[in-house]
Amino acid sequence: MSDTIKQAVMERLRQIKGPDLEGDIVSLGLVSDVFVSDGRVAFSITVPAERAQELEPLRQAAEKVVKEVEGVENAMVALTAERRPGATPSAAPATPPPSAPRQPQRAREETASAKPGVPGIKHIIAVASGKGGVGKSTTTANLALGMAANGLKVGVLDADIYGPSIPRLFNVSGRPESLGGRLLKPLEGYGVKVMSMGFLVEEETPMIWRGPMVISALTQMLREVDWGELDVLVVDMPPGTGDAQLTMAQQVPLAGAVIVSTPQDLALIDARKGLAMFRRVDVPVLGIVENMSYFLCPDCGSRHDIFSHGGARAEAERLEVPFLGEIPLTMQIRETSDAGSPIVVSDPEGPVADIYRKIAAQVADTIEQGADSTGRGAPNIVFD
Ligand code: ADP
Repeated sequence: MSDTIKQAVMERLRQIKGPDLEGDIVSLGLVSDVFVSDGRVAFSITVPAERAQELEPLRQAAEKVVKEVEGVENAMVALTAERRPGATPSAAPATPPPSAPRQPQRAREETASAKPGVPGIKHIIAVASGKGGVGKSTTTANLALGMAANGLKVGVLDADIYGPSIPRLFNVSGRPESLGGRLLKPLEGYGVKVMSMGFLVEEETPMIWRGPMVISALTQMLREVDWGELDVLVVDMPPGTGDAQLTMAQQVPLAGAVIVSTPQDLALIDARKGLAMFRRVDVPVLGIVENMSYFLCPDCGSRHDIFSHGGARAEAERLEVPFLGEIPLTMQIRETSDAGSPIVVSDPEGPVADIYRKIAAQVADTIEQGADSTGRGAPNIVFD
């Protein structure tokens, strides 16, 4: 079924002329892979960055013809731009395909310096993990709330489009209001502005957005949301270190990245890959957080080192990146997260909230100082 829709969509898109009114967008090779799921269609059209605004009618025309295809209930079409090094940054982000070959060092530096910031947002940081289930989203939420508790204006962008859990953590739901044009109003939870793919897609919808779709969804959430003035925007990255994550890290103007790991060796190997990934795109690693580090007894409040914890601290030292702290394994963290009131807001006086606030303060200090001492000058890690 979805293959038939895909073919019909491609056929219909042949009616849309290219940016210079010569040929059609399909024959010109400007249409990305078309993603179809439950009557929803998403794809991107590659245009020169400097012409993105002027070509908005092209995007709308493509969306319109696709919506007319039988079986299509909704269509999301994004313009993506290939930016040539040295070209003037424009509103449209550069989106090379995630499978783009590894760039030589100079080209990478040019890409990094050409990344346009987001007006009103002072710093953007990523929270990442080498694999899923290590508590990355829980850490993102509590870190963001810790920063807010420390007096900063904070936003959270849930880019974990494979499993967006930020709406649940912040107890926010519904669809973001449109502010006219393509601008969306973020939702707000505990004083933190929140935007998630989860708001735009039903929770049950399998999020198998791939390649350029993932990137255009992220850049849209970054640039087409009215974030207002923020000290820090925390991006909850999708877990893993594949091409999609690498391209995301490359596309967002990141001041730095926090890596979350559990004490288990396997996770640490994944964490090392995360570290290598950010270094590869010249994003400083702000440090490693060891989550589910030790067991905090709910009755006596004492600490039990039931895991071979400390692995992350040793690893951080070895890799010369800051070690940001150890978060215990507690039922309270899980329960408060599930209940939509993370521990930093539900038990602000408790010892765990204190740990999160200290990590938040250290991260904020580092980015304020330009994040220069972190992750630089450390040994090179081979990225496989
Ligand atoms: P990820 O984003 O890495 O997939 P989550 O943040 O969704 O991971 O966490 C996975 C599960 O582990 C959730 O149920 C969460 O409540 C729980 N969890 C995370 N950190 C802790 C912790 N320190 N103690 C107890 N449970 C935790």
